[in-house]
Amino acid sequence: MFCPKCGSREIALLPSNEFICKRCGHRWPIPQVDYSWIELDIKKAKLFEKYIDAPIESCEELLTQLLKELDEKNARLLAAKILIQRAERRKLTKAELARYYADADRCFQ
Ligand SMILES: [Zn+2]
Repeated sequence: MFCPKCGSREIALLPSNEFICKRCGHRWPIPQVDYSWIELDIKKAKLFEKYIDAPIESCEELLTQLLKELDEKNARLLAAKILIQRAERRKLTKAELARYYADADRCFQ
């Protein structure tokens, strides 16, 4: 870290979330970390928990709900994930499983 104005490495942190150069007095803001992808992950985890046991059986219904909160790509991925996870939790027969997977598959179309 060095001053973008004079190149000095004598930098102090101000309580206002700025850096200040001790040599020339130049101030600049602390670069903000982009947390949006973490927020999206948390949101998806919450939606997963919310809908994994919800009485919504069809992919279309699930998608309709998820699309209120997520963009289409994320909604489709999450809907498929929920349907497959449910199928695995319920220990279904092979035929039932196949139907679930087919439904999950339709979510991507
Ligand atoms: Zn400086």
